[in-house]
Amino acid sequence: MRAAVLVGPGQLEIQDVPTPVAGAGEMVLKVGANTVCGTDGRIFRGEKTAGVRPGVVMGHEFSGYVHDIGDGVEGYEEGDLVGVMPTVPCLRCYYCENHLEHMCVDAKLYGYWIDGGLAEYVLITAESIQRGAIVKALPGSKPEAIALAEPLGCVLNGADNYGTNIGDTVLIIGAGPIGLLHTMVNKHRGASQIIVINRSPGRLEIAKELGATHTALSGDVNIAEFVKDLTGGLGAHVAVQCIGNLDLFQTALQSVRNGGRVNAFAGFPKGQMATIDPNLIHYNELTVTGGSNMGRNNYRKAVQLIGEGAINVSALHTDTFTLEDTAKALDHVTAGKGIKTAVVPA
Ligand SMILES: [Zn+2]
Ligand SMILES: [Zn+2]
Repeated sequence: MRAAVLVGPGQLEIQDVPTPVAGAGEMVLKVGANTVCGTDGRIFRGEKTAGVRPGVVMGHEFSGYVHDIGDGVEGYEEGDLVGVMPTVPCLRCYYCENHLEHMCVDAKLYGYWIDGGLAEYVLITAESIQRGAIVKALPGSKPEAIALAEPLGCVLNGADNYGTNIGDTVLIIGAGPIGLLHTMVNKHRGASQIIVINRSPGRLEIAKELGATHTALSGDVNIAEFVKDLTGGLGAHVAVQCIGNLDLFQTALQSVRNGGRVNAFAGFPKGQMATIDPNLIHYNELTVTGGSNMGRNNYRKAVQLIGEGAINVSALHTDTFTLEDTAKALDHVTAGKGIKTAVVPA
């Protein structure tokens, strides 16, 4: 089969490799779609190396059709469309035992360590089946949409941490794929006002289609004042930072009302510091949370919400490349083109 192999930093080759065969307890999927994200670009360029095995087949956001079922695997039929939660938790460490399995100290990830979805076929390990990382799609689900259960599940995890209540005003800073997913999730959770801020105008139009009630260009407004004007001077209940800009962290703290919640969802440049006024947290009794990755609960929920049509992730899928053009797909994403780019094997 053909597969996108990470030979070394900056070196991705489409190679002929042996097609996997399902041993006992394993399955082989025929890849349906693999969406590409900024993290793939960082892995490709060698900027992210933790847990990355040289020679790995890349791709961690994917879905596939059950193709080969090993002895002892129950509950699947050939042709079933399934999503794969890329993090396979150990279920034994402190974090796994304390409802934080996505921070598992012994996790192995598809597309980092385990061969991933940028290939024609992918071997599903016995551990990932036993530990609940494989989730069947509802009938009628599209493979590109189920691939997007990965980023959606991560956003659901973040939303659990900042806890939108019905009627809330939510500020979303950044309208990339992640900001747009937070927009859809907050609409679904019953936010009354969803204010989306972005640097460029194109994405703001999409944000409006997906549930934003107010939008602004970051260069045009003082974000905190813009939000206060829309909330009777109070500020938002929640601010979600979806762009790793250090200065905007202080802006997020300034944009919420007393007792408000700020979520640092974006990753920030490694090793750099932000300047904040901690008195905003102290006097205003703010709650600051983070969010990264997800556990099985949110991955399963994401696959369900996509299948039910409750969260229309397909609206984010703008571009498709063939497996042979994987390097072009990575460049496309790194250049910020499109919203979500999928690689679909021919
Ligand atoms: Zn990703
Ligand atoms: Zn663990």
